[in-house]
Amino acid sequence: MMVAGTHDANADDVSDLYRELIIDHSRHPRHFGQLDNATHVAEGINPLCGDRLRLYLQLDEDDSIRDASFEGSGCAISVASASLLTDLVIGIDTSRALAYSKEITERLSTADAPADLAVELEKLMALDGVRRFPSRVKCATLAWHALKSALLGKQAAVSTE
Ligand code: ZN
Repeated sequence: MMVAGTHDANADDVSDLYRELIIDHSRHPRHFGQLDNATHVAEGINPLCGDRLRLYLQLDEDDSIRDASFEGSGCAISVASASLLTDLVIGIDTSRALAYSKEITERLSTADAPADLAVELEKLMALDGVRRFPSRVKCATLAWHALKSALLGKQAAVSTE
């Protein structure tokens, strides 16, 4: 597992930013690797940090997400966020996944976002620390942009720049 570091935060901030869940998911990413039966694929690139990932989705005929995986390399935040994403989207339908993508990207991009989140998204509170680090927001939202791109069937890679 490659975990690149471009951290400019001080030690206290880092310990707060990298909560236990983030560390766990970055060291042991869930659903990591190529998905053989993928129906939808999207790439995400965050040049600012050097994060690159490819998100795979397998959709059923009824528009639910049967399986999901990702591969790539990046900082701990980007990998943990993608890992949490794949955990969350397996088994839900695409409209819900798109709604989650919107909610999470908006939340992480807004410093004064409301405290409440849907119960299903509670794990993602672990990513909230990035809201105080604008340079890391793109790391955390990269996979969610890729999710939207994959579901909307856009072929081009999404870049945060
Ligand atoms: Zn990053």
